[in-house]
Amino acid sequence: MKHILAFLSFFLVISLNAQDTYLHCGKIMDVVSGKTLSEKTIIVSGNSIKSIMNGYVNGTQNDRIIDLKDKTILPGFIDLHVHIESESNPNSYADRFTDNEADIAFKATGYAKKTLLAGFTTVRDLGGTGVNISIRNAINKGIVDGPRIFTAGKSIATTGGHADPTNGRSHEFTGDPGPKEGVVNSPDEARKAVRQRYKDGADVIKITATGGVLSVAKNGKNPQFTIDEIKAITETADDYGMLTAAHAHGDEGMQRAVKGGIKTIEHGSYMSDATMDLMKQYGTYMVPTITAGKQVAEKAEVAGYFPEVVAVKAREIGPLIQGTFGKAYKKGVNIAFGTDAGVFPHGLNAKEFGYMVEAGMPAIEAIQSATTTNAKLLGMAAELGQIKEGFLADIVAVSGDPLKEITVLENVSFVMKNGVVYKNE
Ligand SMILES: [Zn+2]
Repeated sequence: MKHILAFLSFFLVISLNAQDTYLHCGKIMDVVSGKTLSEKTIIVSGNSIKSIMNGYVNGTQNDRIIDLKDKTILPGFIDLHVHIESESNPNSYADRFTDNEADIAFKATGYAKKTLLAGFTTVRDLGGTGVNISIRNAINKGIVDGPRIFTAGKSIATTGGHADPTNGRSHEFTGDPGPKEGVVNSPDEARKAVRQRYKDGADVIKITATGGVLSVAKNGKNPQFTIDEIKAITETADDYGMLTAAHAHGDEGMQRAVKGGIKTIEHGSYMSDATMDLMKQYGTYMVPTITAGKQVAEKAEVAGYFPEVVAVKAREIGPLIQGTFGKAYKKGVNIAFGTDAGVFPHGLNAKEFGYMVEAGMPAIEAIQSATTTNAKLLGMAAELGQIKEGFLADIVAVSGDPLKEITVLENVSFVMKNGVVYKNE
């Protein structure tokens, strides 16, 4: 009994002496109302926001004060489409034959850190080899620095489809990948692939509903799943509470994905008016990835950067995305923020804000898409996406007013995730 009391009092002393962090904030953006609040103190205790007080308040001698009086404070950004394992370079296609999982993991730790330091405190990884599951776990354990990750593990495709990992390889290296490797050809196999991802530790499900730009395959927009296969995927994902995303450039595959119950359409390059209406009807979100579209179009003009079969698609599809996004936004399609980072260098994710505003979306709505909207889609609306009492302490700061000049979001000077400061310049 004595021991137990000593043990309990030890913890009591620890909790009384726990250090809180007092952030003196010149301006805080309330991303819900769009209003800017002046001269506030955010008190962070443990991994969450304990309270927000008027004026600049100091705690006890134990507490830490951080001066952000000349900054605008926002909730940490959320990117719903990244590939944390890889970054496009002229050797990307050769790397697949030389890199082992450990090589991929070491590179990924650098990409994860760049992402976090750019103010993206949460990301959804939409497909890699499965190392993305390990890096999520390593970040959660504090072994490496990076954003909070919700990962799809390995994407699901059909044979020869955009995410068939053996596309373009010689027969010696092709094999016959199945549901375990993310290749399905029937509703039964589709169900197995989803359950396999759940078993592997994935959080979300990604399918490649149409052809894509970077795969070594001719067609960048053909439909690649039947609607029955898609329904088998979304129904099974629902059983496990997994959010579903479909990569889609072509319109027919996009329509099947929407009707099949997919929640987010990635890219949406050739989205027709009819599909936009359908998305509104089904409550589907568009994740535009304008930055990636611009990047592939630019790199297609660099001789030898892509295989020719890829360069042709990049020139045609890449430049379409921003215009389609502008049309979809004006038509009232739900928009979520996502960049496809990895197709362009990690850490440049915030460029997407500027492209969204350039296409006609007001700055506050672009910011909402990367905060409240994405938090809701990830099932984290009560914990992420706002600076609010009880929310997780994911906090970033910039100089200037992002509502007047959206590009200030590209230079984040302060990053806190889960109450831990990772950057304070
Ligand atoms: Zn992608």
